[in-house]
Amino acid sequence: MKIVVLKFGGTSVGSVDRIKKICRIISSFKKKKKQVVVISSAMSGVTNDLIKKSKLLSNNFNNAEYDALVSTGEQVSCALISGRLNHLGYKSRSWQSWQVPILTEGPYTKARINKIIVKNLLKYLKLGGIPVVTGFQGINDKLRITTIGRSGSDATAIMLAKFIKADECIIFTDVDGVYTTDPRQYKKAKKIKKIFYDEMLEMASLGSKVMQPTSVQDAKLNNIDIKVKSSFVSKSGTLIGSYKKSFSNQIITGISSTKNDAKITIIGVKDRPGVAASIFKPLSKNLINVDMVVQNISSDTRETDLTFTIKNDDLKKTEKLINQNKKISYKKLSFDKDVSKVSIIGVGMITTPGITYRMFQALASKKINILVISTSEIKISVLISSKHVKKAVAVLHKEFKLD
Ligand code: ASP
Ligand code: MG
Repeated sequence: MKIVVLKFGGTSVGSVDRIKKICRIISSFKKKKKQVVVISSAMSGVTNDLIKKSKLLSNNFNNAEYDALVSTGEQVSCALISGRLNHLGYKSRSWQSWQVPILTEGPYTKARINKIIVKNLLKYLKLGGIPVVTGFQGINDKLRITTIGRSGSDATAIMLAKFIKADECIIFTDVDGVYTTDPRQYKKAKKIKKIFYDEMLEMASLGSKVMQPTSVQDAKLNNIDIKVKSSFVSKSGTLIGSYKKSFSNQIITGISSTKNDAKITIIGVKDRPGVAASIFKPLSKNLINVDMVVQNISSDTRETDLTFTIKNDDLKKTEKLINQNKKISYKKLSFDKDVSKVSIIGVGMITTPGITYRMFQALASKKINILVISTSEIKISVLISSKHVKKAVAVLHKEFKLD
């Protein structure tokens, strides 16, 4: 019999009615003669509430106790699901991480799952039972509870699918899949049927929030195909996986855009080895994430201009750090806090020439000025003025036939 791992997110188990609904989904898989393992997040809002309480008690709350505290939401939702399944006549029980056990390593609040002992779960599946397992938590070698980072239940589902050798792993959430671009921003956005891990990773890190990038990374490393579906409406979702062949002749899979970027230009910096390092060292020490970087050579070649982007929130701090930096000298510092990065993503661009040209041409046709460009193997990003983002997404969506 095929094993399927079904993971439900916080909103999918957010109320008693929602739990009744997802138990019907679980039941539909049982009726298809599958062995079903369920992973659940905490009911939506619960983890946040627990975190809030810890902060009210201490602004330096002990990390091990934090994990013992915030992992409790999952115990509640799993027991509720199992209880309901029992009510419907199914054999089911909840399993907390330590009962499985789910073994983790690394620090409290951001541990990683390194092993799941599946022997007892398999036995229970053979008896026709439905194990309902807590996401987000594990235990360490001291037998203390750990958690694996916010939204970690996705990672639990993927790792469990790996260790139990599941045939399928379905992530039920409140959106019905991954879209070519943000559907709230652009009406003609389409649901993507299949997407490669690498494309998904780029989409996720560029702001498409369907799945946590680290969980996609886990899925990629372990070669687990993931289906993302809505638990609210019954529609086909998006399949995230690795594929030998291209799915279609689509070159670009998706377009993403960021908000809240800021651009900094340092004009007239001495052009000698080590200068860029001196500029970025204090930023990295202060955990300021630098994204795009370009350096222009000035005509006399003794000075250069350096431009880079950061998040808007970090602008004040960055300005201060550069002003205080005695290791560098420059003529002028300039800022632009209304910029956005627009990216086109697709593995198809590796083998298709002319994509860069088409992107720039499309933007030029709408008189959109490009401030900074950066590329990777499967992505081209441009920095533009924020007021042009909508227009840029629309023209690119059309140019690459995603409409
Ligand atoms: N309940 C945890 C959180 O809210 C884990 C999860 O939802 O996946 O972050
Ligand atoms: Mg959640």
